[in-house]
Amino acid sequence: MKQAGGQGTLFVISAPSGAGKTSLVSEMLRQDSRLGVSVSHTTRPMRDGEQDGVNYHFISRDEFEAMIARGDFLEHADVFGNYYGTSQVWVRETLATGQDVILEIDWQGAEQVRRLVPECVSIFIVPPSAEILRQRLVGRGTDAPEVIERRLSEAEEECRHAVEFDYLVVNDDFAVALADLLAIVRSQRLKMATQQVRHGELLRDLSAHG
Ligand code: 5GP
Repeated sequence: MKQAGGQGTLFVISAPSGAGKTSLVSEMLRQDSRLGVSVSHTTRPMRDGEQDGVNYHFISRDEFEAMIARGDFLEHADVFGNYYGTSQVWVRETLATGQDVILEIDWQGAEQVRRLVPECVSIFIVPPSAEILRQRLVGRGTDAPEVIERRLSEAEEECRHAVEFDYLVVNDDFAVALADLLAIVRSQRLKMATQQVRHGELLRDLSAHG
């Protein structure tokens, strides 16, 4: 899927769970109306407080496999036993309107998207220390030790892929991490290739004589 001139930018954001990615992304969306987020499809069960069509499109494994067979996904992955995937059509159509799109996906999905859309911008978010990550994943202390250990090893696996991303944002202070993310988006919009399309007439006027 080639991003043509005049199209929005595709931002891929990954993080271990406990890094604060979802809260940061929802604040980015609130502050920047030119950003949209893709709602993924998943086969994992809905959690309390989640809404179908808002957090995810919750579907069965059969439905998911039928979507894979039809080529409906830009990328898809098995993340710790459940399928997750990004709708190809939604992303393509939204980018074509000039809107920038965020994908909140795991490292496996990020790898696939980088191959398909090499001009995408990928960002990895980490917590400020391993100890803080551990505290966040241990949570209220009501989970079984093996559940906590599984979460920690899943987070470590995700973090092993951090260096594959274009940008690293450390979420120590929420406001600073948010400003960093918005700065990445803003600098992308100021790139010449993007600005030439937006301000083509201005550049022509400024360089025309007579
Ligand atoms: P959760 O089940 O906690 O919402 O998400 C688990 C993991 O799946 C997170 O790392 C999240 O970023 C990832 N994920 C969510 N949607 C997608 C998707 O569409 N594709 C891929 N590859 N990963 C996803």
